[in-house]
Amino acid sequence: MIRFESVEKWFGQHQVLAGVTGEVKRGEVVTLLGSSGSGKSTLIRAVTRLEAIQGGQVLFEGADVAGRGVDINRLRQRVGFVFQAFNLFPHLTVLGNITLGLERLRKMGKAAARDRAMSELDRVSLADKADALPSRLSGGQRQRVAIARALAMDPDVMLFDEPTSALDPEMVNEVLRVMRTLAQDGMTMVVVTHEIGFAREVADTVWFLDKGRIVESGAPAEVLDDPRHDRLRSFLSRAR
Ligand code: ADP
Ligand code: MG
Repeated sequence: MIRFESVEKWFGQHQVLAGVTGEVKRGEVVTLLGSSGSGKSTLIRAVTRLEAIQGGQVLFEGADVAGRGVDINRLRQRVGFVFQAFNLFPHLTVLGNITLGLERLRKMGKAAARDRAMSELDRVSLADKADALPSRLSGGQRQRVAIARALAMDPDVMLFDEPTSALDPEMVNEVLRVMRTLAQDGMTMVVVTHEIGFAREVADTVWFLDKGRIVESGAPAEVLDDPRHDRLRSFLSRAR
């Protein structure tokens, strides 16, 4: 579904991705681990061209995302993205945040958009907050709305960039629960996270990124319980 081939990225003279190769298969959950600054966000942002790359290719369903014929808006609908900070529109209700994309991008009528939005809100157990403004919600609830909004676009893949890192500890689980259910329902997911427990339980594959390279990858049991690299060992000891 997604293939990274020798992906290289520089910010000025600073190389942040130094030849990343790996693939995410349909229905697979990949968790991406790595210290701050290792290039995790840059890598997944390259999938929807939020970052341009200077070497290699990112393929989505076999097609280069930087290719001439790519409809970038369509690509961004098919690849849902949930960021660390819930970037909901503050002046729109929860429902309005979700129907906006459905009406504008998907050209749905108001009633159909509303029905679709309500069913996604139901999926994240927030149907009762449809008419609330984001400012009235907790951080965990806002992040669940952000997930519902991405899901409403009917994506083929969901990318999560530290979705629980900005949350108070008591709200982390409600978000992880939604993500776990999504994984069980067969969604293809790439999850950047420091939640080792989530990686262990939900991931099919764990990638450990260090200085812009995947230095270790494999099943969670292999990578997390039997780390070969010192950098991963110390990362895991800090994470626990
Ligand atoms: P991670 O998500 O693993 O913490 P990032 O992908 O955000 O890492 O960043 C990788 C490296 O690229 C870091 O050294 C960071 O400082 C640098 N970087 C990220 N974004 C920019 C930018 N817009 N301009 C310059 N440097 C950047
Ligand atoms: Mg990051």
